[in-house]
Amino acid sequence: MNKTINTVAITGGTHGNELTGVYLIKHWQSQPQEVARSSFTPELHIANPAATQEVRRYVDQDLNRQFNIADLADPQLAGCEQQRAKALNTLLGPKEGPRVDFVIDMHTTTANMGMSLVFNSNHPLVIGMAFYIKQKMPNANLFYSPTDRLEDNFLRSMGRFGGLVIEVGPISQGLLNYQVYADTRTAVMHALDYLELYNVEAPPEVPKAMTGYRFIEKIPFPTNDQGEITGMIHPVLQGQDYQPIDPGDPLFITLTGETIVYQGVDTVYGAFINEAAYYDRNIGLSLMEKVDISYPTDSLDSTS
Ligand SMILES: [Zn+2]
Repeated sequence: MNKTINTVAITGGTHGNELTGVYLIKHWQSQPQEVARSSFTPELHIANPAATQEVRRYVDQDLNRQFNIADLADPQLAGCEQQRAKALNTLLGPKEGPRVDFVIDMHTTTANMGMSLVFNSNHPLVIGMAFYIKQKMPNANLFYSPTDRLEDNFLRSMGRFGGLVIEVGPISQGLLNYQVYADTRTAVMHALDYLELYNVEAPPEVPKAMTGYRFIEKIPFPTNDQGEITGMIHPVLQGQDYQPIDPGDPLFITLTGETIVYQGVDTVYGAFINEAAYYDRNIGLSLMEKVDISYPTDSLDSTS
C-alpha cells in the first residue's frame, strides 16, 4: 500500500445558506460507512455553524475568503467568520503544515453552471482528482485558477495537498433540490474513490490534459453615484454560463432598457452569471477564458 492520504475533511455549510452540503454532512454523520474507504475515514465538518444556524451566507464576512495565511495570523481580524477561520486553522491546520491532507468543500450556486470542480492548485493529486471526476461525470466543468496554497483564501487550501470545491447549481439559496444533492453526493463519492485508489494502488489513469476555464475578472453591475445597481443581466445572457461571450455581445440592460455590451477584444466565457451571493458586492458575473489544463508530472512530495 502506497498510503499518501491519511486524513480527509469533507466540509459543507461554509456558506450557511447552501443547504446541499449541510444536509450531505448530516446524512453522512448518520451513515458514515457511505464515505468510509479502506485506507481512510473522512472527517465531516459544518464549516460555518453560526451562519448555517441562521441560513445566511455569512454572519460578518464570507468565511471562504478568510484562509490567507497572513489573515489567519492577524489578531485584528476578529469578526465571526474571521474567528471561525482561525478555529478551523487549529482544527484542520495549521495552514503552514496542515494535519488534514485533503479538503473536499461542497458549495452551491444560483447560477446555471451545472457542476463546477473549482481548484487552484497544480498539485497532481488535485488535478488528477478533478480529471477523474470529470471522466466519470463528463458534464462537470473544470474551473481552474492557479494560486499558491498559502495565499489561497478558500477553505479548500487547508489541506496539506490542497483541496477541491464541488459547486453545483442552479439552486436558490436556502433550498434543497434532489438532483443537486444527488450530483454533489456522486461527485464526492468519486473524489473519495480517487483518494482510495491513490492510497491502495496507484494514481488512477487520467488524461494528460483536459479543457477547462480560468478566471479572468469579475464584472460589476452598472451603478449610480450612490452605488445602487442601475441595470441587470441582459436576458440573452441570463443562464448562459460557460457559453462564449464575443466582443459586442450584451452583458447588462439598464433600468431604462439600454443595452450594455461586452467591450473586450477576445472571446470569453461567463460564469456565476447573476449569482445571488455576489449582489452584496454588486458583481454581475465572472469572465473566464478557456484553457488546456495539463496533468502535472512533478512529484507528490511538493505540497505547494
Ligand atoms: Zn458557497
